[in-house]
Amino acid sequence: RAAALANYRDVPAITKDGTEMTLMLNVGLALELDQLDRTGADGIGLYRTEIAALAAGGIPDVAGQAAEYGKVMDRANGRPVQFRTLDLGADKLLPGETAQTEENPAMGWRSLRIGLDRPAILRRQLRALLLGAQGRPLKVMFPMVATVEEFRAARDLLEAEAGRIRPTPERLEAGTMLEVPSLLFQLPGLLAEADFISVGTNDLMQFLFAADRGTPELADRYDTLSAPVLEMLEKLVTYCQEAGIPLSVCGEAAGRPLDALAFAALGVTTLSMSGGAILPVKAMLVEADLNALRPVLRELRRAGAAGGSIREPLAVWAREH
Ligand code: PEP
Ligand code: MG
Repeated sequence: RAAALANYRDVPAITKDGTEMTLMLNVGLALELDQLDRTGADGIGLYRTEIAALAAGGIPDVAGQAAEYGKVMDRANGRPVQFRTLDLGADKLLPGETAQTEENPAMGWRSLRIGLDRPAILRRQLRALLLGAQGRPLKVMFPMVATVEEFRAARDLLEAEAGRIRPTPERLEAGTMLEVPSLLFQLPGLLAEADFISVGTNDLMQFLFAADRGTPELADRYDTLSAPVLEMLEKLVTYCQEAGIPLSVCGEAAGRPLDALAFAALGVTTLSMSGGAILPVKAMLVEADLNALRPVLRELRRAGAAGGSIREPLAVWAREH
């Protein structure tokens, strides 16, 4: 089976109906960069910068960070990389940092919230990204954005740093993770400001359903393949298409073949996932006719409108087709 999957490495990710899919990698550790060539991924849809800081036991200085980011871009060799700024706090604490005495750390002072309140750390990282890029196109993505104002503040910091560093990137793009539901109700404003959007289903599911992503008892209770999530994604696709803003999904769900199939049918053509998921997802997509799936999906969603999962009937359809 592994050999059969390996055959998909050089197969273009085009569905039976001709939809061109872009399959990207989620990367945290440098050793995962090997997956770029091993899987034939189209680039890195999510580079989790906090992982190196956690592994090193602290945030490296600007030169150290710049060297890391430059190396990642070297390895990507022209393929796009979406660098996500530090997503620390909650469960990702640096050594020596005492856990905040918060009742709900996932909803606490974390991630970009720290970055905006302690801008020196964020500015150093943005500087390092610009230095690492050395004039190459640079894509920076901000995590845990909850308001357009937060996104704008973060983007302003990026632009301020970009104004001071030479060479300036050939193209500089600022995007946002969509993992806090409040953003869903600020889409016109957000789409006027952001250059790209990536849906983090891990956190978004947690906040949509008020279900801690780390609680095993809840792991299977709510499904990405359920009416509310699919409706949300469908709306998002429509908004992004109208605004001409690239949309991707980079949560774990994007790496599950059946979820990827449904997302593709809804019009999400860029998916980012861990290295092990690329070939299985591609194998599913190249065998799929999305035009045939769409009416089926609509019917299943109607039947599951009460919030139920459509995973099982969709799996049956996928097996039969
Ligand atoms: C997510 O929340 O879906 C995501 C991709 O980010 P992380 O898993 O790093 O929180
Ligand atoms: Mg997240």
